[in-house]
Amino acid sequence: CGIFGVIGVTDASNFVALGLHALQHRGQEAGGIVCYHPDAGFNSARRFGYVRDNFTSQDVMETLPGPLAIGHVRYSTAGSKAAAIRDVQPFFGEFSRGGAAIAHNGNITNAIALRRELIERGSIFQSSSDSECIIHLMARSLQKSVPERMEDALRRVEGAFSVVAMTRTKLIGVRDPLGVRPLVLGKVADGWCLSSETCALDIIGAEFVREIEPGEMVVITSDGKVDSRRPFRSQPSKFCIFEHVYFSRPDSIIGGKSVYDTRRRIGVELAREAPVEADLVCPVPDSGTPAAIGFSQESGIPYAMGIIRNQYMGRTFIEPTEQIRNMGVRLKLNVNRALIKGKRVVLVDDSVVRGTTSRKIKEMILDAGAAEVHFRIASPPTAWPCFYGVDTPQREKLLAATMTEDEMRDHLRVDSLRFVSLDGLYRAAGEAEGRDNACPQYCDACFSGEYPVEPSDMIEKGFEL
Ligand code: 5GP
Ligand code: SF4
Ligand code: MG
Repeated sequence: CGIFGVIGVTDASNFVALGLHALQHRGQEAGGIVCYHPDAGFNSARRFGYVRDNFTSQDVMETLPGPLAIGHVRYSTAGSKAAAIRDVQPFFGEFSRGGAAIAHNGNITNAIALRRELIERGSIFQSSSDSECIIHLMARSLQKSVPERMEDALRRVEGAFSVVAMTRTKLIGVRDPLGVRPLVLGKVADGWCLSSETCALDIIGAEFVREIEPGEMVVITSDGKVDSRRPFRSQPSKFCIFEHVYFSRPDSIIGGKSVYDTRRRIGVELAREAPVEADLVCPVPDSGTPAAIGFSQESGIPYAMGIIRNQYMGRTFIEPTEQIRNMGVRLKLNVNRALIKGKRVVLVDDSVVRGTTSRKIKEMILDAGAAEVHFRIASPPTAWPCFYGVDTPQREKLLAATMTEDEMRDHLRVDSLRFVSLDGLYRAAGEAEGRDNACPQYCDACFSGEYPVEPSDMIEKGFEL
């Protein structure tokens, strides 16, 4: 999901709508905005579909006045797949000294246990979302102020969370102690903003100030003061390495590093680790593009657009059902036949999850008369599900959970298939020595199976580590 918040500007929800539009790649199912105006009070709008279709018309934006607003774009990981509007964030709660709204990116790994406990003690849940636990935990806190209620609540929550919240007078941002999901602070005109990624600061002309640190909470008041707190015990950070590979936008900056350049360097690593003789290097657009550029630069094999993407399709992976996903590949990608015919082609993609994309692309490209097809993948084999906010399927459906690299190559019937190594990925992400196996610098559980936070809900449901 994507989260965004602004304080101290006129018509804050316009800024939030723009910010969410720039974060649309993080969630396309639905979006919501909550705002506060001293005369009009709290207002909200929650809709299915794209930001540009819901939060651009005057009719809607006029109902969202005020100098303070937060928003959310949803991509369902926890919660029901056939999303109901009640699952669309931000969520709102009314406490003894005024209300608060929260928008959450990530996944709470002890949500089932928390929900059970909260319901037993009288909480009435409105949605199926794990994020709603935060509101109920806040309501039960004995603290008075909203930031302190939030501290109390989040200390009970396990897993990955970046949260943007607001009261009538404050904008609040928090990252979990491991800092799994991103959150950055920006300065816009006389106000401040919080965003999942820096690309959403650019769209509103905000200046990047810094990242919210793992385990940090910032409380920003209407008079422009930024107060930083540390509600959690400090731990080594575990930022999601898959943000670098796929999830973030390539024009975002993470940890001072350009996401585009990290992806390009994964391609360089791949060309060194798994060279091949071929005529063309083609990306599977758009997610494989920067790595393909890097592969071409390092190998000297010309880069070309062998697959053309229909710009009017979203991210196929994020379409929840199997059937739509299967069709999705053809709806979204087509082979540039004239270019491919008779060529030995290196195809570069960011990841193989179920293998749907690679299977279809291979068929399409052989059908177009390619002489050879060599897959190069800009991440290690995805062999484990993510429980921290990226929607990988159950383990059985992951191609790499049941097959070796060679078996996958035979299964996909391609001439060769190679994945970048974990160390190569870490080097590309700026860790010159590669992965520190004693204490990995990132979360890489979907590749290594080493989960930095125990997925206790899933273990309760029978998942075996
Ligand atoms: P597959 O088709 O193998 O199931 O999925 C791989 C494709 O899904 C890649 O092209 C990748 O760009 C895309 N993708 C989209 N969202 C995700 C996600 O959340 N996780 C992973 N691993 N891949 C994703
Ligand atoms: Fe990111 Fe993978 Fe860790 Fe999930 S399991 S947070 S996708 S690195
Ligand atoms: Mg892709």
